[in-house]
Amino acid sequence: MGELPPCEKCGSEYVYENGDYYVCPECAHEWLKGAGSEQNQEEEGLVVKDAHGNLLKDGDSVTVIKDIKIKGSSSVIKVGTKVNDIRLVEEVNGHNIDAKVKGFGPMMLKSSIVKKSN
Ligand SMILES: [Zn+2]
Repeated sequence: MGELPPCEKCGSEYVYENGDYYVCPECAHEWLKGAGSEQNQEEEGLVVKDAHGNLLKDGDSVTVIKDIKIKGSSSVIKVGTKVNDIRLVEEVNGHNIDAKVKGFGPMMLKSSIVKKSN
């Protein structure tokens, strides 16, 4: 409480309060107090890291680093399979990535068996 956040835009520490707003004297950015902190909390709630500890975000592409057996079928998603446009979700049984895998359709993946790719 009482701590002023750094500027959202430029990261300046000289932010001051002005009513319901925070104001940055360095880049003149202004933002609503409540909105900013809620947004930050949401982002902190979904920290998803790949097998190498890299932070993942919505829209990232990842590569599968371990064969994934599909429950109830003989299909296997092979090592090296690229998955585009992932979506981070609240963890369910260790699965915290929602994605569409080519040839398999939509499914949940574990961030611990993928690595971020470009
Ligand atoms: Zn600023």
